[in-house]
Amino acid sequence: MARYTESVCRLCRREGSKLFLKGDRCFSEKCSVDRRAYPPGQHGQARPRFSDYGMQLREKQKVKRMYGLLERQFEKTMAQASRMKGRTGENLLSLLERRLDNVVFRLGFATSRAEARQLVLHGHFQVNGRKAAIPSMLVKPGMLIVLRESSRQVARIVGALETLERRSVPSWLEIDKDNFAGVVKAMPVREEITLPIQEQLIVELYSR
Ligand code: SF4
Repeated sequence: MARYTESVCRLCRREGSKLFLKGDRCFSEKCSVDRRAYPPGQHGQARPRFSDYGMQLREKQKVKRMYGLLERQFEKTMAQASRMKGRTGENLLSLLERRLDNVVFRLGFATSRAEARQLVLHGHFQVNGRKAAIPSMLVKPGMLIVLRESSRQVARIVGALETLERRSVPSWLEIDKDNFAGVVKAMPVREEITLPIQEQLIVELYSR
C-alpha cells in the first residue's frame, strides 16, 4: 500500500495548522508549525492566494492527513457519509472518529493516530473479546476495547497512557487505565469534535 514517507511536519506546515501527527513532539516547543509558521518549499513565505476550490481542497487534504487516510479511503468514507441520514459533513467526521485506530488514539493508548494504527495492525487490541486488527473498523456504542494481556508491558503503550493528561479523552469514550480498557459510551457528536475543521468546505468540494 502506498505510504507517505517524507517529514510529516511538512504536512502540518502545508495546511497551516497542527495536525498532531508526531505524538509528544506536537506538544513541545520543537513543533515545526510553531517555529516556522509558513508553508514548506522555496515559495513558502510568499503570500498564499486561494480560490474557493483551493480552500475546499486544502480542507479536504487537512482532514485526510489528520486521520491518516489515503485518497481512495477518504473518498469511500465520503461516499458512505453522503448515503447516511443527516448532514454529510457531520456524518463524515463521525465516521472518521469512529475508526478503531482513532479510538485507540483518543483513549490514550498511543500518542498519535499513526502509532495507534500500527498498534491495531499488530493485533494488540481486542474488541468485545475478539482480536481486532483492522484500523478502519467502525466502533459502536457499547463496544469494549481492551489491550491484550500480553501487550500490557509494551513500553510505548505504557508511556502513552502516562501522558494521557495532555490529550483529553472525549466524553463519548471512557478509559479505565487500571484495566487497560476503554468503552464507547455514545456516538460522537459534532460539538465534541473540537478539531479546527470546516467540514462544509469538504462537502462543497465533493458536490462540484
Ligand atoms: Fe505537526 Fe506535530 Fe510536527 Fe507540530 S510537531 S508540525 S503538530 S506533526
